[in-house]
Amino acid sequence: MDPLADEEEAIVATVRAFVDRDVRPVVRELEHGDVYPERLIERMKGLGVFGLAVPRAYGGVAVSAPCFARVTEELARGWMSLAGAMGGHSVVATLLARFGTPGQRARYLPRMATGEIRAAMALTEPGGGSDLQAITTTARRDGEDYVVDGTKTWISNARRAGVIALLCKTDPAATPPHAGIGILLAEHGEGLAVSRDLSKLGYKGVETCELSFAGYRAPRAALLGGEEGQGFTQMMKGLEIGRIQVAARALGVARAALDDSLAYAQQRESFGKPIWRHQSVGNQLADMATRYSAARQLVLHAARCYDSGRRSDLEAGMAKLFASETAMEIALSAVRVHGGYGYSTEFDVERYFRDAPLMIVGEGTNEIQRNVIAAQLVARGGLPR
Ligand SMILES: Cc1cc2nc3c(=O)[nH]c(=O)nc-3n(C[C@H](O)[C@H](O)[C@H](O)COP(=O)(O)OP(=O)(O)OC[C@H]3O[C@@H](n4cnc5c(N)ncnc54)[C@H](O)[C@@H]3O)c2cc1C
Repeated sequence: MDPLADEEEAIVATVRAFVDRDVRPVVRELEHGDVYPERLIERMKGLGVFGLAVPRAYGGVAVSAPCFARVTEELARGWMSLAGAMGGHSVVATLLARFGTPGQRARYLPRMATGEIRAAMALTEPGGGSDLQAITTTARRDGEDYVVDGTKTWISNARRAGVIALLCKTDPAATPPHAGIGILLAEHGEGLAVSRDLSKLGYKGVETCELSFAGYRAPRAALLGGEEGQGFTQMMKGLEIGRIQVAARALGVARAALDDSLAYAQQRESFGKPIWRHQSVGNQLADMATRYSAARQLVLHAARCYDSGRRSDLEAGMAKLFASETAMEIALSAVRVHGGYGYSTEFDVERYFRDAPLMIVGEGTNEIQRNVIAAQLVARGGLPR
């Protein structure tokens, strides 16, 4: 693994210490109460976590993608929900930094860097999340405004978001359909309602909501980049770092499951010896550590590729696919190693098992990642030698 610059190593170490000192002792209570982690979010603001994808010119620290992945992993090692709370936010910061007009960057990025306002991204609709070109939310031009109608669902951080990157159609008749898609920077107000809070298997504490737009008005200046028809391409670029972030979340869950299992297997005894000395338990630990290490290399490889400026959808897709499937396997192994206690709400292992599937489904399902990987393999003439 390439070392990070000293300053970036220090950021990762600071977040790791925060997780061990402030997150792990309280996570079970927050999780089972499904409580929004107000105090922890405040601490994350103080640590600069919400500014990791914001350029320095706007008050952020804009770390490298490998550093961003490692911070994400540390947060998710403590509680995946915390990594989720900065995931969509960081994708929107990246979109603004890359594609925003000077006015859009000045309006949002300085306050996003401090976490004063946090961002959500709204792509998925009740009719489907995989086929984004088929979205039906429309933004119709009316004088100097867009008028938005439609419904988005499964939108994380939606209730508390100060800005929502809304994927919508400014030209529903465009062919191909992606040529009619834009991203509107929407703010809560008249015509936009949080119509439902969705109940979830895991990813507790952080809200995930349905949003209804009915005659919602946004000024033309709210269209990301100011040019119509660019939203799909913009979002696909944003999803490259989004998928690396989700892959890193999976690493955090996997790491926590591995660490807990390693500790437990040395304390717990059966037949007169610590259970790790039973070959089948030892083998599980060995496989968990091996798979986790392989997934981590793949995620860091994708992050380095992203930083190189090359197209990285294949690499991000592979990282997200492999890390999330690995996290699910490791979470199940952790349940096995813990025996009955792996099923207890007094241990963290059951949470890893509930959180891991989100990384399989979120930010484009793993079936969609496979489609992206296969298409890119063909387009690029295979993997590089
Ligand atoms: C907790 C949570 C938080 C979320 N947060 C957000 C958020 O903040 N913002 C946001 O926009 N979305 C969010 N999502 C939505 C998520 O991105 C979607 O659920 C996901 O993209 C899948 O969309 P879908 O649920 O509509 O499934 P569908 O698109 O209906 O897919 C159903 C099944 O069919 C498969 N499938 C569909 N098309 C194909 C194909 N072409 N080839 C192979 N298989 C296919 C899928 O892989 C899946 O297995 C969140 C979801 C969850 C559960």
